[in-house]
Amino acid sequence: MVDVTRHDVVIVGGGAAGLRAAIAVSEARPGISIALVSKVYPMRSHTVSAEGGAAAVARSDDTLEMHAYDTVKGSDFLGDQDVIQYFVEEAPKELTRLEHWGCPWSRNDDGTVATRAFGGMTTKRTWFATDKVGFHMLHTLFQTSMKYGDIERYDEHFVTKLLVDGGACRGVAALDMRTGQVKAVLGKAVILATGGGGKVWPFTTNGNIKTGDGMALAYREGIALKDMEFVQYHPTGLPGTGILITEATRGEGGYLLNSEGERFLTTRDYGVGTKAELGPRDMISRAIMQEIAAGRGIKIPGKIGEYAHLDLRHLGEEKIMARIPFVRELSRTYANVDPVHEPIPIRPVLHYMMGGVDTDIDGATEIDGLYAAGETACVSLNGANRLGSNSLTECLVFGARAGAHAVQYIAGSSGGEEGPLLRQAEDEAGRVEALRGQQGGGEKITKLRESMNDIMERGTGVYREQASMAKANTEIAELKGRYEQLSLDDPSKVFNTEIIAALELRNMIDVAESVALAALHRKESRGAHACPDFPTRNDGEYLHHSLVYYGPTGPRFDKKDVTLGVWEPEERKY
Ligand SMILES: Cc1cc2nc3c(=O)[nH]c(=O)nc-3n(C[C@H](O)[C@H](O)[C@H](O)COP(=O)(O)OP(=O)(O)OC[C@H]3O[C@@H](n4cnc5c(N)ncnc54)[C@H](O)[C@@H]3O)c2cc1C
Repeated sequence: MVDVTRHDVVIVGGGAAGLRAAIAVSEARPGISIALVSKVYPMRSHTVSAEGGAAAVARSDDTLEMHAYDTVKGSDFLGDQDVIQYFVEEAPKELTRLEHWGCPWSRNDDGTVATRAFGGMTTKRTWFATDKVGFHMLHTLFQTSMKYGDIERYDEHFVTKLLVDGGACRGVAALDMRTGQVKAVLGKAVILATGGGGKVWPFTTNGNIKTGDGMALAYREGIALKDMEFVQYHPTGLPGTGILITEATRGEGGYLLNSEGERFLTTRDYGVGTKAELGPRDMISRAIMQEIAAGRGIKIPGKIGEYAHLDLRHLGEEKIMARIPFVRELSRTYANVDPVHEPIPIRPVLHYMMGGVDTDIDGATEIDGLYAAGETACVSLNGANRLGSNSLTECLVFGARAGAHAVQYIAGSSGGEEGPLLRQAEDEAGRVEALRGQQGGGEKITKLRESMNDIMERGTGVYREQASMAKANTEIAELKGRYEQLSLDDPSKVFNTEIIAALELRNMIDVAESVALAALHRKESRGAHACPDFPTRNDGEYLHHSLVYYGPTGPRFDKKDVTLGVWEPEERKY
C-alpha cells in the first residue's frame, strides 16, 4: 500500500504562485491544512532567477487604464480584458503587501518606490530590487509562508499524477525523491503552480526544472492547454548558454547594435516607433533575427550562430553598479566581457510560455477542485505576447485568487470516497516502479530530448513556416512512439535523477505536442506567433484562443472566444 497523507488543499509548486496561493489559503481560513509539494526546495524554484522587476502602477503620471491598455495591446488583443482589468487593479495592492512582508524594493531619493521602464509599457511602472527581484520576492514569500504552521512541505517530491475521481480532483501521486516511494497526498482541492516549460526548446533562459510538468498533468486528465503556440523569445540572452541579460538593461537606457555599430531599432522600421529598444519582446526578437538574416549579425565560429550587441557603455560604471550589478557579474563570468567597457553579445532566446492550463479568472479548470496559477496556467492575461514584468505580478495576483477560490470551493464540497483515489495512486506507484531502470527498446533520454529540442526549434522558433510546423507535428508523434522504447540504466531508489529525467521528458513531449498543433492551426501572424506564409493578423478568422486536448490516438484542436471589453482590436503599432 502507498503511504497516504490527508490535507484540505494540496498545492503543487513552491515558486511565487504556489507560495502566494498557500498564504492566501491560510489567511482565508486559519488552521486549514495545506500540503505544499515541490520537486525542488522552494527557494530553488525558477522565480528566484527573475532579474528585472514586477509591474504595477505606482507613479502619479500612471493610471490603471494605461497599464490595462498596454497589456491588451502587448497581447495583440488576445488577452481577456476582464482578466487584465482585475490584474491591474490588484497589482499595486499585491506589491505593497509584499513590501509589508519585507520585500526590499529599491527606492527613489525621496523614499518612494523606484520604478524602471520595461518594454511595451508607456511609463516607468516596473518595481525592482536592484536586479535580483525574483530572489527577493521569493525569499519574502517563503519567509512569510513559514508564519503559517498549517503549511506542511513536501520538498523534493515529484508529482507524477493528479488523482481525479467522479469529475473532481482530490489529490496527487508524488514520488519522494529521497526514498523512491510514491505517496498519495490527498486534499479536497489541488492548485497547480508548477511554472513553465522552456526546456522543451534547446536555447532557453529557463532552469533545468522547467519541464512543463503541471501542464502535462492537467492535459493527460483531459483539461485543455490554451494558447500554447505563443512562446516568448526574449531578445537578449547570452549566446551559447542562454543566460538572461535582463530587459532592465534597456529600461536603464541600453542600446542594441548590429555588426556595423548601427542602432538598428532607431534607423530601420521594425514597428517599434520611438520606443526603440523599449518595444515589446516579440518585435525586438524579430528585428534581431532580421538583422542577422540581412548579413548584419556578428559572427562567431561554431554552432552558436550569429548575434547582436547590447551596449551599456554610455550608462557608466556608477549607474551599472547601482541598478544592474548582476548583469555585469553575469557578463564577466559567462561572456568574458565587462559591460562598462565592452558591448555584450546577445541573441533571442526562449524565455516564457504565454499558454498553459486553461483556467477561468478564478484559476478554476474544467475539473472540479483543480486550480492553476502562475506560468503553468493560462488565465489569459498575456494573450499572444507577455509584457516583461507582468509575470511576477501575475503569480501574486492569480496565485492569491486561486487560493481564495479553492477555499470557497472546499467549503461547499462533500468530498468523496478515498478508495478510487488510492487505487489510482497504487497503479501509479506500479507504473513508476516499472519505469525505474526499465530495459526497453534501446532509446536513450538524451537522444530523445535532443530530437525534441531540435524539432521544436525548427518548427516553432521565432519564425514559423507552415511546412516546418506540419513536419514538427509528425515528428513529435513519432517521438511519442520512441518514448515507449526508452531504456534506463539506474535501478536505484535514493535520489534517482534518471527516472526524474524520464518523467520530465514525457511531460515535455506532451507539452511539445500541444504547442505544435496549436501553432499549425493559427494561419496568421499575431504577437509571438510569426508566420512568413501568413504575415498579417487576421481578426476575422483567428481572434480566438486555441485549445488543445489530449487524446490517446493524438491531440484534438478546439477554440474559445476572447473576452473583449473597452478596447476593440486595432493595428498594433508603437
Ligand atoms: C531568467 C528569468 C528571468 C525572469 N525575469 C522576470 C522578471 O524580471 N519579471 C517577470 O515578471 N518575470 C520574469 N521571468 C518570468 C517569471 O520569473 C516566471 O514566469 C515566474 O517566476 C514563474 O513562477 P511560478 O510560481 O509560476 O513557477 P516557478 O517559479 O517556476 O516554480 C515552479 C514550482 O513548481 C514545482 N514543480 C514543478 N513541477 C513539479 C512536479 N512535477 N512536482 C512537484 N513540484 C513541481 C517546482 O519545484 C517549483 O517549486 C523570468 C524568468 C526567467 C527564466
